[in-house]
Amino acid sequence: MNSGIRYSIVIPVYNEEAVIEQTYRRLKQVMASTGESYELIFVNDGSRDQTASLIKGYGEGDDTVKLLGFSRNFGHQVAITAGMDYAAGAAVVVIDADLQDPPELILEMIAKWKEGFDVVYAKRTKRKGETFFKKQTAHLFYRLLRVSTDLNIPTDTGDFRLIDRRVVEELKRLPERNRYVRGLVSWVGFRQTAVEYERDERLAGETKYPLKKMMKLSMDGITSFSYKPLKLATYAGTIIVTFGLSSLAVLIFMKMFNKIFLAGWELVISIQLILSGLLLTMMGIIGEYIGRIYDEARERPLYIISESYGLMRKEQPVKK
Ligand code: UDP
Ligand code: MG
Repeated sequence: MNSGIRYSIVIPVYNEEAVIEQTYRRLKQVMASTGESYELIFVNDGSRDQTASLIKGYGEGDDTVKLLGFSRNFGHQVAITAGMDYAAGAAVVVIDADLQDPPELILEMIAKWKEGFDVVYAKRTKRKGETFFKKQTAHLFYRLLRVSTDLNIPTDTGDFRLIDRRVVEELKRLPERNRYVRGLVSWVGFRQTAVEYERDERLAGETKYPLKKMMKLSMDGITSFSYKPLKLATYAGTIIVTFGLSSLAVLIFMKMFNKIFLAGWELVISIQLILSGLLLTMMGIIGEYIGRIYDEARERPLYIISESYGLMRKEQPVKK
């Protein structure tokens, strides 16, 4: 395991030709200042632009540059996982390619790691240059995740973090397909701490996380760590049954004492709508879980590598 490399920097990239040059330069600067050995593992998540050929270009005169290319877009969380699978360093740092995560913060993370922490994650105190909608939905999601799981997953924290080798080895033993890496890191445990930062704007290009991918990520986060959405059916069911029984009681009471009781068809329809809406929602939630169980049952590999530069080929992480 000990290859002599101290730090592995894992950078997932998806159509990042507009920023990759800057990211590469800033990372080089920061890592050179440590005076220790390192590798930059770019994980190309099926980019359709010049990203991969640019990276290969940097690699020509620089053997710290490594590239892992997927056969198609497998998603950010899978790209991070693959980077960790191939990383050789004693500590692995995961960082976005768009410089929203300032590379200089890695030095602070390294300092904490040397103090003895196994995971140092970057907590955002501010987010610049992101839409009101994105900030609000992210805020809501982290709170929702916190109330729905028993696990202490830090809020306002992305995937920008340093992870010690022994935690990486534990993460590699978690074979799940619909991965929410931050949650998995919390689940693994060990000594974890935070460094704070203000999240910058994306340097160039546009977000690779449209609403659809954000929804998928949040559903993965919640379903991987909580059964509470499933329990909603029990709660809602209980409330409705109680309500139904008490209104029946009122009806009988009215009838017995011969009072007039008006119950139009509007009432019937609205109750019908509420009930069927509720049922459909619950079926949807159950479907989210069943779909994920299905994904696990098929045991497909998490990703497919189509090219790799500068990296030793290791076994694909398949379930034992
Ligand atoms: N990314 C990826 N695969 C994807 C989407 C994104 O590898 O399917 C990478 C992207 O290149 C970037 C990081 O994941 O390095 C975070 O994406 P982005 O900055 O677009 O997300 P945002 O900061 O807008 O949430
Ligand atoms: Mg970004």
